[in-house]
Amino acid sequence: MHLATLFVNGHPAAAVQLSDGSFLEIAKAASDRGEFTTAIHTGTLQAVIETGDDALNGIRTLVAEAEDGRHTTATHTASNAILLAPIPVPRKNVFCVGRNYAEHIAEGERAQNKKIGVTEHPVYFTKPCTAVIGPLASIPVFQSLSESIDYEVELTVVIGKAGRNITRERAFEHVFGYTIMNDITARDVQRRHGGQYFKGKALDGSCPLGPCIVTADAISDPQNLAIGLSVNGEQRQSGNTASMIFDIPNLIQSLSEGLTLEPGDLIATGTPSGVGYAMDPPHFLKHGDTVICEIAEIGRLENTLHNEIGTS
Ligand code: MG
Repeated sequence: MHLATLFVNGHPAAAVQLSDGSFLEIAKAASDRGEFTTAIHTGTLQAVIETGDDALNGIRTLVAEAEDGRHTTATHTASNAILLAPIPVPRKNVFCVGRNYAEHIAEGERAQNKKIGVTEHPVYFTKPCTAVIGPLASIPVFQSLSESIDYEVELTVVIGKAGRNITRERAFEHVFGYTIMNDITARDVQRRHGGQYFKGKALDGSCPLGPCIVTADAISDPQNLAIGLSVNGEQRQSGNTASMIFDIPNLIQSLSEGLTLEPGDLIATGTPSGVGYAMDPPHFLKHGDTVICEIAEIGRLENTLHNEIGTS
């Protein structure tokens, strides 16, 4: 299933996509029916993820009814639906992985004229919840702060079942589904803070997320998905998740060592080659540019950059 969060009457509302592309508002369709788990009625995907199969089975019932012509008042056409990030305000920072595709490391070495190399263990950093924005939301350009805004399309894992010290073999049991993240990066800010990743990758609006969370059962093979990104229609990134250096089970095993992963946690798994700073000459993003991230079986995440005016 493709699960999304709509903006309805000023509030977020969990929804599921129907076969014709329209969206069914889950809580509204369930209305006063008592047979469903509480998570269905809360109207948040966070509650659905925490509840797991009971909630998913309830949603499947509602989808079957809607496909049968019911729940029309709870249905929004694709063109009328305003999507937020599927989890508009994650409960904790978004976990991210750096340097996870060999070609991306190689282009970084060329651009920076220095050896970067593959690390023995995955490189982790985070993006704060305040960086998260949804599909079609503006990516702010803080002109006085950065002159080198860059993009990175990334397959993002959504954790379902909590766990610590998760083994490789059991890693996929902890995955609820998958979404797309654009790891917007202020390269100049990234470089000037001692080489650590956080500051340059944590600015407001630097974590476009969506358009939906696709449940794990609906993805044929997360380790074999075409992944790409275009800027104003020009293809910049084009790869496959098969090329990850540390695959998803490895990332979950490694990140969960002594660290509890919880339902709704997000793990962005790194970007393939084709980023703007490694082009010759570099091509950075500016006001008016439209960036589209696409991953097979998930969808497309589109955002446009706008100069930030004012200081608040
Ligand atoms: Mg990245």
